[in-house]
Amino acid sequence: MSIDAPIDTSPLRSRFAGSVIAPGETGWDEARGAFNLALDQRPALIAIAQDARDVAAVVRFAAERGLRVAPQATGHNAAPLGDLGTTVLLKTCAMQGFSIDAQARRARVEAGVKWGPVCDAASQHGLAPLSGSARDVGVVGYTLGGGLGWLGRKHGLACNAVTAIELVTSDGTFVRADQEHEPDLFWALRGAGANVGIVTAIEFELFPAPQVYAGSLFFPFERAAEVLHAWRQWCATTPDEVTSTAKLLQLPPLEELPEPLRGRSFALVQAAFLGSEADGAALLEPLRALGPLMDTFATVEPAALGYLAMDPEDPMPYRAGSQVLGDLPREGFDAFLAAAGPASGSTLMVAELRQLGGALGRTHDSHGARDMINGSYLSFATSALMDPAAAPALELELERVRRSLAMYEVGQYLNFAERPIDLQRAFDEPTLARLRALRSQVDPQGLLHPNHDAAA
Ligand SMILES: Cc1cc2nc3c(=O)[nH]c(=O)nc-3n(C[C@H](O)[C@H](O)[C@H](O)COP(=O)(O)OP(=O)(O)OC[C@H]3O[C@@H](n4cnc5c(N)ncnc54)[C@H](O)[C@@H]3O)c2cc1C
Repeated sequence: MSIDAPIDTSPLRSRFAGSVIAPGETGWDEARGAFNLALDQRPALIAIAQDARDVAAVVRFAAERGLRVAPQATGHNAAPLGDLGTTVLLKTCAMQGFSIDAQARRARVEAGVKWGPVCDAASQHGLAPLSGSARDVGVVGYTLGGGLGWLGRKHGLACNAVTAIELVTSDGTFVRADQEHEPDLFWALRGAGANVGIVTAIEFELFPAPQVYAGSLFFPFERAAEVLHAWRQWCATTPDEVTSTAKLLQLPPLEELPEPLRGRSFALVQAAFLGSEADGAALLEPLRALGPLMDTFATVEPAALGYLAMDPEDPMPYRAGSQVLGDLPREGFDAFLAAAGPASGSTLMVAELRQLGGALGRTHDSHGARDMINGSYLSFATSALMDPAAAPALELELERVRRSLAMYEVGQYLNFAERPIDLQRAFDEPTLARLRALRSQVDPQGLLHPNHDAAA
């Protein structure tokens, strides 16, 4: 759906500190781009907010015209948004303020901030936020969807380390929500994204990480079965201080990749251990004994964790799939290997299993709507889509991985859902019912256009 007549933007421009860009105006194509270059976002209007007042101005302007509002920081999870023809895309990328209070172990960041600078600043004090694998991802979008990172098994999901959230509600009101104030909103925001408001700033706990022992063990791709089965057994023994992932990596011969990786395929294990090098090395011994080709484990600053996964930093076209898995026995690993391993003919650049459990799986009364992730592993598979004509073949490969794990699937994790999903697969029934009731109470007109819509 789209708006037929051009929107008169002058009432918004007159009270807006940031920029308003109508279709076809200078900067339109740059502003409507998402991280995933395979997407073609065509909103009714783009507003690049400078501050919280701008956010409220956009909300009121949209409400008066029957438009919706989709907040977006980086566009890392733009795929599930769907049609934006009657939606104002509210870019928060200019809201870049953040501060760290090292003594109180707290950070406060505005809506457009990415993880990289926050991790760097916290790291200087031996502290770490519960950031994820990529520095380039937005703090707010990541946190509102749950937030699964390298310290997750020790400290849980990022959303449950949030101490306060400032937002604009669908009627343009400024609200500060925490455990004591607006507890329902505070609960919903921590896991259900933009369903109940547009976040302007978020405050959260930082964790001591004076010693982090982290790295990758690279093995030949052909040894994938041996490596993944060894990792499976290892995961059963690791303490919560370890969070790890096993990856099948098939890299293209791109100039920008470091020479030892360029055009090569590997089976690898990556892990972060919150503790000393001696203890970490002892824990790693069973995997090291397999004799990796390359071993990058070392004691690192916490900020170095943002580089460990080697996630892409520049926008690229891609497709991806993911599943939360319950117990994954030996046969489950074999099925995954049969779909994505060396004998499968798979061309997927990444097929990985992330270790869950520990604090990620523990529930608590103080938690938000994403209380925990009830699974043992999270699968994720992706590949670049340089040629749109290759999309059907890539979808078939992703579907083959999905089917191989289907009997172990227990749900979906919103942050990794790269397409619209039935929220019954992401939340249990009481949680979803509470979310839906709250959403219809605080946004009766459906003004908010979140990536995963509880009202849909
Ligand atoms: C390379 C890569 C690595 C990743 N690694 C991890 C990982 O390790 N762990 C993990 O958990 N996830 C990870 N993700 C997933 C990521 O957390 C989600 O894609 C997340 O939604 C991105 O947030 P964003 O703000 O960057 O993206 P955006 O697309 O800008 O935002 C995503 C959604 O968040 C909501 N949102 C954003 N800003 C606001 C706001 N101000 N107010 C209200 N709602 C808002 C909106 O609904 C928006 O559609 C990764 C993604 C990529 C592409």
